[in-house]
Amino acid sequence: MVSLTFYGGVGEIGGNKILIESGEDRILLDFGMSFALRRKFYYTFLCPKTEKSLLEFGLLPRLKGVYRFDRSEPSLNGVFLSHSHLDHAGYVSFLKREIPIFCGETTATILKALMELRGRDLEFDLEGLEFKTFRTGKKIRLGSLEIEPIHVDHSVPGAYGLIVHTEEGSVVYTGDFRLHGSRPEMTEEFLRKAGEADPQAVIVEGTNVVGAEMSSEAEVSAKLEKLVQKTSGLVLADFAVGDLDRLRSFHGVAEKTGRQLAVTLKQAHLLRRLGGDPHLKVPCLEDGCLLVFKRSKKRYAPWEQALMELDNVVDPAGVAANQGKIILSTSFYSLGELLEINPKAGSCYVLSSSEPVTEEGEIEFDRLVNWLDHYGLPQYHIHVSGHALPHQLKEAVEAMGAKKVFPIHCEHPKLFRRFLGTKVNVKLVEKNRVYSI
Ligand SMILES: [Zn+2]
Ligand SMILES: [Zn+2]
Repeated sequence: MVSLTFYGGVGEIGGNKILIESGEDRILLDFGMSFALRRKFYYTFLCPKTEKSLLEFGLLPRLKGVYRFDRSEPSLNGVFLSHSHLDHAGYVSFLKREIPIFCGETTATILKALMELRGRDLEFDLEGLEFKTFRTGKKIRLGSLEIEPIHVDHSVPGAYGLIVHTEEGSVVYTGDFRLHGSRPEMTEEFLRKAGEADPQAVIVEGTNVVGAEMSSEAEVSAKLEKLVQKTSGLVLADFAVGDLDRLRSFHGVAEKTGRQLAVTLKQAHLLRRLGGDPHLKVPCLEDGCLLVFKRSKKRYAPWEQALMELDNVVDPAGVAANQGKIILSTSFYSLGELLEINPKAGSCYVLSSSEPVTEEGEIEFDRLVNWLDHYGLPQYHIHVSGHALPHQLKEAVEAMGAKKVFPIHCEHPKLFRRFLGTKVNVKLVEKNRVYSI
């Protein structure tokens, strides 16, 4: 029997952990951190200290032969990551080092760069893990299972959907995907191949069934350009570190409006690491349109010091002196720099992500508004999500023609089921329950 068990991503956005079993062969699809569940018990000043606490609250499922703190023999053939977002990849930190992690080349690069940026802690430690990377077109055989990854478009590069061929038919896992980003043809290719596999089961994300906005990355870029043209002062831009599409959009807007985009040290480091991949068309750090913003700190990590050797480093005083010529990439953690920059009249703040979240996944909207209020910065929300719109989800499910559909990564699975209609056999997923395909 081929079965599926869902240990996360059930009734929540992220935390995906899906076990596929076929006789002796067992693989996991994603092994992410569940931000929502974590927030119920922990926050910045109350962090989990041991694996035991994560098991206690169900943040880590009780699985044998999986964790490095468990002495039993490894019980998995491998783990497949759809992409590098931590709600899909973060908890590989806990896995036995003998278990290989299969992921896209870009995903491995991003995760390793994150390791350099963040250092190690209980919940993020990739030391000793064996990454086996793939690209679209490669097929990986593990016992009776064959896994076929196909690229999809998402708000981080290197995202894949996975087709798992089993002796009882195929299982398709969409991971996170969208069709309104800069590379919709990648998602279309995945959906086409998934349909050709005549899937028994489709595990589909349903993030965007509430509050979906009809827009596209191209539209975001056009709106940003209009706003920057109308702004005389400094433009502060808040967007996710890994969102390379958005970085390209801001970079393009800076070019067209005669400004320079000052990226954070973290973004600069990631650009450096991803720069070697010709598939990604990453803007070059020294192309004249980019600056590297040096935050004021007492001590800089080695990776930060390495960036400071560049000629285009700018400090808060440099930004303060050239406000009308710069788009400054910022985040909740950089707000302290406003003290020295002191934005002049006519500056603005662009929230270009879904919510102002900290690295711990906490939403800090009220505090952000207090800062903006103090400095007289109006806030614009210009964003398009990394996830497909409801009508696109419906079309995708219908195009793949699955016998059974399992919605995950979704806070409203019942809504999603009714929206898909009675012609589709939708299974509402329960955590820890075993489903045959
Ligand atoms: Zn996700
Ligand atoms: Zn994602």
